[in-house]
Amino acid sequence: MSSASGFAGEQDDGNSLPCRTTSFYRALASSEDPMRDPIAAQFVPRAQEHIREEHETEDPLADRRFLVTERLIHRYPDRVLLLTTDNCAVFCRHCFRRHFTGGQQGAPTPRELDKVLAYIAENPMVQEILLSGGDPLTLSDSQLATILDGVRAARPDIIVRICSRIPVVNPSRITTATARLLAGPESDAQLAHTWFVTHANHPLEVSRSFTAAVQLLMRSGVPVLNQAVLLRGVNDHIDTLEELFRALYRAGVKPYYLLQTDLAAGTSHFRVPISQGIAIMQELRRRLSGPAVPVYALDLPGGGGKVPIESSLLRVEPSGYVFRGPDGLEYSYPR
Ligand code: SF4
Repeated sequence: MSSASGFAGEQDDGNSLPCRTTSFYRALASSEDPMRDPIAAQFVPRAQEHIREEHETEDPLADRRFLVTERLIHRYPDRVLLLTTDNCAVFCRHCFRRHFTGGQQGAPTPRELDKVLAYIAENPMVQEILLSGGDPLTLSDSQLATILDGVRAARPDIIVRICSRIPVVNPSRITTATARLLAGPESDAQLAHTWFVTHANHPLEVSRSFTAAVQLLMRSGVPVLNQAVLLRGVNDHIDTLEELFRALYRAGVKPYYLLQTDLAAGTSHFRVPISQGIAIMQELRRRLSGPAVPVYALDLPGGGGKVPIESSLLRVEPSGYVFRGPDGLEYSYPR
């Protein structure tokens, strides 16, 4: 796996993530005070973003180390992640990829896309491509079609996973035509080889419009999952998370992950202690039916990969929680 030079347009400071929201998302908030409102907390910058703790970095998952082209991250043997754009409809204040997100790059250039397509064509061990960023659904349908047509032509067998917050923050962006485009040719849609992962963190985000958008996707043959992030002041309460996961399950969306926050610079005010997360999960399992319970997971600091917290935790030391990574090595996450 070769290494490219790094993200073009990368930002020096994790605190320089721009401020942006949509009128739809803003209307979900009852106040624009991030200290009082769980929606505002996710789009209104706070002074704490200028605090950088000792263990925090601009690139907490070591994305740069796993770059194989300017736009492609190859961290796991069978999966790659395509940075479709650095643009988002809402810049989430907890974003871990803030070293890339919010620049001025937009969609891949034809040359950058050609390198991605050549890589997946030449590496048959890659079974799945994640379209991420940034938010891929900030691209136009025509830009998405260029990427998807290229991917499907280079590797007709590949599974496509689209990671997007658009159903939460701008659900009307998902039209019938967009859903069909994402699903792919009709014959392939029967195989459900396109998956969609959205990102709702609070029950208010599972709006009627969210439900309509994800149902358009599902009717086109695209299963929808959700990954939530455990965030102080947003959803760090058992009742809030119970309501969120019940609402998603009712909408037909499988709660996939509840993610521990990554150690991105300027995000410590969102961090919930892992001991609290484990206690919340124990109570969630008592309250919810199995399919409505997500996996509580962590991306190990320094690029160790994603692990389920409860089954990978080896011990708790004064300095932090020690986990066994997929590579067999030990990784520490601070207390
Ligand atoms: S939508 Fe995703 S990539 Fe964009 S700011 Fe939010 S978390 Fe980051």
